[in-house]
Parts: sequence; C-alpha cells; structure tokens
Amino acid sequence: MRPFQFIRADSPQAAIVGFSNAGESDGSDERSRGSQYLAGGTTLLDLMKLGVMQPSAVVDINGLPTDSLAQIDLGPRGLRLGAMARMSDAAEHPDVIEHYPVIAQSLSLAASTQIRNMASLGGNVLQRTRCTYFRDTSYPNCNKRTPGSGCAAMDGINRQHAVLGVSGDCIASYPGDFAQALIALDAQVEINGPGGGRVIPFATLHRTPGDTPHLEHTLAPGDLIIAFDIPELPFARRSLFLKIRDRESYEFALASAAVALDLDGETVKDVRIALGGVATAPWRAEEAEARLKGQSLGDDTLAAAAEAAFAQASPREHNAFKIDLGKRTLVRALQQAATLEI
Ligand SMILES: Cc1cc2nc3c(=O)[nH]c(=O)nc-3n(C[C@H](O)[C@H](O)[C@H](O)COP(=O)(O)OP(=O)(O)OC[C@H]3O[C@@H](n4cnc5c(N)ncnc54)[C@H](O)[C@@H]3O)c2cc1C
Ligand code: SF4
Repeated sequence: MRPFQFIRADSPQAAIVGFSNAGESDGSDERSRGSQYLAGGTTLLDLMKLGVMQPSAVVDINGLPTDSLAQIDLGPRGLRLGAMARMSDAAEHPDVIEHYPVIAQSLSLAASTQIRNMASLGGNVLQRTRCTYFRDTSYPNCNKRTPGSGCAAMDGINRQHAVLGVSGDCIASYPGDFAQALIALDAQVEINGPGGGRVIPFATLHRTPGDTPHLEHTLAPGDLIIAFDIPELPFARRSLFLKIRDRESYEFALASAAVALDLDGETVKDVRIALGGVATAPWRAEEAEARLKGQSLGDDTLAAAAEAAFAQASPREHNAFKIDLGKRTLVRALQQAATLEI
C-alpha cells in the first residue's frame, strides 16, 4: 500500500491551489512525486493500481460547480463542452448529434457504456497510452514511464503501435478518439492554472515523443482544463468519425479518421482530417487536406490524399499493416461523408 494525500476541491481555484501546495513532479520520473487531478478516475486509478503512476496527492475535481465545468451549450459562436461533462452526456446530447456529428460519434464509439457514464471529457483527452510495456512495470525498459530506460516495444510486440510521429525513443500510439474530432473541428481549450487563465488551440495540447516521451502535453503542472470550444463551422454537420478496431465491442482504434467536408457540388471547397490509432498524438493530416481542396472526390484523388497522409510513416516489425489500414480508413471516411444528407 502506498499512501497519498487526497484533496476534495469545490472550485477551480481551490483545485489549483490544492494541486500546487501538494507538490509538483520534478519531471524525472512520472511515478515519483507530484499531484494529479481525479475526474472519472477510469485512467488514473487503473494506472495507480498498476504502479505506473504514483502521485503523492490526488485532487478530486468532481465537486467543482457543474454549471461552469460540466455544461454542454450550443450558442451563436459554436459549441462549448465543459471538461467535467461525462462522455455519455456529450455523445447523447441532441445538439451535438445534429450539429457536430463527428464529436458525438467519436465519443459513442469509445470505451463501454459504463466507462462513458463515468469518464469526463477532460480526462479523456489526457488518457495515457495503452502500450503494454508502459502499463506493465515488470518491463524495466520504457522511456515514457522511466526516462532514459529504453523502449521495450521497439523490437517487441508492436502491432498496436504508431507509424506516424514516432521517434527512436517511443512509438506508443495515442489511444483516444474524441481528440481527433476536436482537431478536425479546430477546437480551442480553455485552461486555468497557477499561471492564470488562457485559451490555446487544441492542436497544440499534445506533444509527439521526440526524446522526451514522458512529456505528453503542453500543460504546466496544476493546469486545469475548464472547457473545449468548438467554433461554428460551415461544414461541421458534414462530419463523421470512422473507427476500425479488432472487435465491435469496446476496443481502442487500430485506425480511425475524423473528417469534415465542405462540398460545392462535387468539388471539395474545404476539408479537415484527423487520424487516430496510427500516430503518437492526435494527428492532423494537412498534406491529405491539401491534395483534396479544389478537387472532386474521385478514386485517384482519394488515393493520392491517402498516400500523402502516410508518406512519412515509419513502421516496425508488426505494425506495417496500419499504413494500408489507415489509408483505407481515410478513403472510406471521406466517401461516407460525401454521401451524407445535410
Ligand atoms: C476498458 C477501457 C476501454 C477504453 N476504450 C476507449 C476507447 O475506445 N476510446 C477512448 O477514447 N477511450 C477509451 N478508454 C479510456 C477512457 O475513455 C478514459 O479512461 C477516460 O476518458 C478518462 O477520463 P476520466 O475522467 O476517467 O479521467 P481520469 O482517469 O480521472 O484522469 C485521466 C488524466 O487526466 C487528468 N485530468 C482529468 N481531468 C482533468 C482536467 N479537467 N484538467 C487537467 N487534467 C485532468 C488526470 O489528472 C489524469 O492524469 C477506455 C478505458 C478503458 C478502461
Ligand atoms: S513505445 Fe513508448 S510507452 Fe511503449 S515501451 Fe516504448 S517508450 Fe514505453
């Protein structure tokens, strides 16, 4: 049994102060020190039980006011999703389903009903990788868990691992689904923290591993995600999330595509694409978008876009299949989006 401090917060400010007073991680070892916010607990508590994360303090944010932290509001400037809204509340909200289908689908295809009822949107975007070597502490070599220790996946069983955004230090894939929808729709994140409040593009929240795979996001210690703002986009309604997984029951993506299309007749006026399951972070496929703009969605154009999306892919022994799977997933998502009645 490893003791840790447990703090219940009733306001964002109390949560931030509680987090900071309880001590920060020194960044040298994820497990050693520092505080963690507790939302639904569906990632954090799992990893604490496994001994992968060993925070010295846990700040429970479930008592924060729901009117600001768990709201789901559609207004003239777009959709606002509070960070403490549960995945199922957002997935089943009629305004989200009608105006931002890619958001609703990414959430409803994620995890199981029980997990979606508990898990929060803020926790979802900050979930950790499912890399087996990261989650099993009997493997000593994991640069993400213990910086500088090596990477057991590099020459191990790497079927689930990433082909895009990889480095010589880590090839773990980003596991979530909701983040791809946020990237495709140019969402912003509102953050409050010890350094004050700010708003950043969601696309800048996650980091690729480089030589610091233990640093997964750009939040400072104590930063609390307050809400996600998704702008009013002309083509958000023609959007969808396609997820390919080993089984149709709850399972993480092998490959996924979040796409939003603005069509002028058969010509692509504008398009947004984010890929999941294949990359170390939620992955905006800008090269593919560039190939599609101004074109009609014929087979050759779609194939060229898919090629462009995976041109920089770097597979290992067991995951090369993800390149072909990722291309097919993207092509099929675009074809399906083009036929949507809006
Ligand atoms: C069996 C299983 C299957 C799953 N399948 C999928 C899937 O297919 N797709 C998918 O997307 N997910 C999947 N998940 C992951 C699940 O969606 C996440 O565990 C969940 O969304 C995390 O949310 P939470 O509120 O429980 O986060 P927590 O576990 O409470 O927190 C996770 C992390 O986020 C931090 N955090 C939480 N809220 C905030 C905030 N507001 N500000 C700053 N930091 C915060 C915490 O400190 C912690 O580090 C699965 C999980 C399980 C167990
Ligand atoms: S892929 Fe990343 S998370 Fe997995 S063992 Fe290697 S360093 Fe650790």
